[in-house]
Amino acid sequence: MIDLTFPEQYVDILPEVRAFLAEEHRLYIGGRWVPALSGATFETSDPSSGRLLARVSSAQAEDVEAAVQAARQTFDSGAWHLKLTPSERGRLIWKLADLIESRAPILAQLDALDNGKPVSKAFKVDVPLSAEHFRYYAGWANKIEGATIPVNTVGMLNYTVREPVGVCGLIVPWNYPLLMAAWKIAPALAAGNCIILKPAEQTPLSALYLARLFEEAGFPPGVFNVLTGFGETAGAALVAHHGVNKIGFTGSATVARTILRNSAESLKRVSLELGGKSPNIIFADANLEQAVVGATWAIFGNNGQSCTTGSRLYIQRSVFDRVLTGMAEATARIRVGMGMGQQQPDLGPVVSAEQLQTVMGFIDEGQGSGARTVIGGRRMGGELANGYFIEPTIFVDVQEQMRIVREEIFGPVVCAIPFDDADQVLRAANETPYGLAAGLWTRDLQTAHRFAARLQAGTVWVNTWGDTDAASPFGGYKQSGHGREMGKEALDLYTEVKSIWIRVD
Ligand code: NAP
Ligand code: MG
Repeated sequence: MIDLTFPEQYVDILPEVRAFLAEEHRLYIGGRWVPALSGATFETSDPSSGRLLARVSSAQAEDVEAAVQAARQTFDSGAWHLKLTPSERGRLIWKLADLIESRAPILAQLDALDNGKPVSKAFKVDVPLSAEHFRYYAGWANKIEGATIPVNTVGMLNYTVREPVGVCGLIVPWNYPLLMAAWKIAPALAAGNCIILKPAEQTPLSALYLARLFEEAGFPPGVFNVLTGFGETAGAALVAHHGVNKIGFTGSATVARTILRNSAESLKRVSLELGGKSPNIIFADANLEQAVVGATWAIFGNNGQSCTTGSRLYIQRSVFDRVLTGMAEATARIRVGMGMGQQQPDLGPVVSAEQLQTVMGFIDEGQGSGARTVIGGRRMGGELANGYFIEPTIFVDVQEQMRIVREEIFGPVVCAIPFDDADQVLRAANETPYGLAAGLWTRDLQTAHRFAARLQAGTVWVNTWGDTDAASPFGGYKQSGHGREMGKEALDLYTEVKSIWIRVD
């Protein structure tokens, strides 16, 4: 069992982190640290204060070319998927997990500084879940089996094997920088692929540190490569490249559409984990105390910067006022502050100035169109004025056609909407182009099963919210994506099935 006690001293920046930040941050290609060929760099900063953290290499098309060549060479040589046994691969992946765990304070500080989230949360959530993820898939490395097929031909043996897809470009967002990368890297590695990781421009640091751990673990060069840079340059070149067999993407629907268009020429495989506007439904018969706490964290956990955030809250009319009062009280107690603050807060800032502007834009528009804020609604000032802090915000008196009800905000903003009967709320819950997650709170078994069956979402939570596990598949219906990450399903994203026929008689 991993020890999740957060040591108080980790709010002081560790000497290792200071030293890491001060270094030149290059690209990791073919087991070597190289600057971008153009010499281009970009800045990454701390959203709690706006201060500069580091300058990082900005990969361009020619760097993507070099990374693809390196990954291709390693893959085509079989150094990873053929010359090592599956259990040797599994042991290396497990070793990586051990290294992640042993450097948990460093990785937690890097994600806290880069993303703004409280370091205690990064330490208790992001890093241990990442290590667990690698362990889960380390176990799969020697269990990816084919089948023998009873075909309808006399004297013929037919069997299948599952082979790696090849070189995988993995493009990830900034909300859980290390964890989102781990979700993709771990199954891709277990299946024998070579990887080029493109972290988000806001949070490149933990990906670079992870590359060091790959080196330390002793992975063959070229198995894991990191290209820091921008989506429109590095990301786009990766997507278009004919030497890349597969793109695994987590991010916005807008970028997903661009990726599908830009991958059309090479017809590469693409899997997508996108956004949501997840409905969270509280029935009058629920354990309301539990539901109030659950619904509060369903939206405000990670500052609403989770793809599964419970941003449309439907409350049965007879308990609407009671639930809202409870949520407003719980929300008033949420401590918002610096990610590395001595007094660890519950929430940090949102990730960037752009995100601040987007979220405040939604809030202003909501207020302007007649919605009422029960609590929150403002950018935070005082000692937080230099960071991108927003008060956790609850809206009521909203109309279904308002943008704050329909569109993903990806910030700490929830719309609470009363409902009268089950059919009405089921219709409203499903009336969205998204289908990532949904949840309900009830003590009624029939309602729980009926809604679990009828909610159009890849994950349904009943009397809980936000649970994920490396072993349980995760992904979206409708415009929330293609494919399932986690669980044995993720292996389908990173393997090809080959059918082999042999005449034996
Ligand atoms: P984003 O703009 O879609 O960016 C995601 C990643 O794609 C980043 O690494 C980005 O690079 C890259 N990218 C941007 N343009 C690209 C292009 N033309 N070609 C290839 N790659 C490109 O999303 P975000 O703003 O970082 O993250 C927030 C969104 O992600 C939200 O909508 C949220 O719902 C979604 N999300 C979904 C999940 C899930 O599991 N389903 C999880 C987390 C977030 P840059 O950093 O340079 O832009
Ligand atoms: Mg940053």
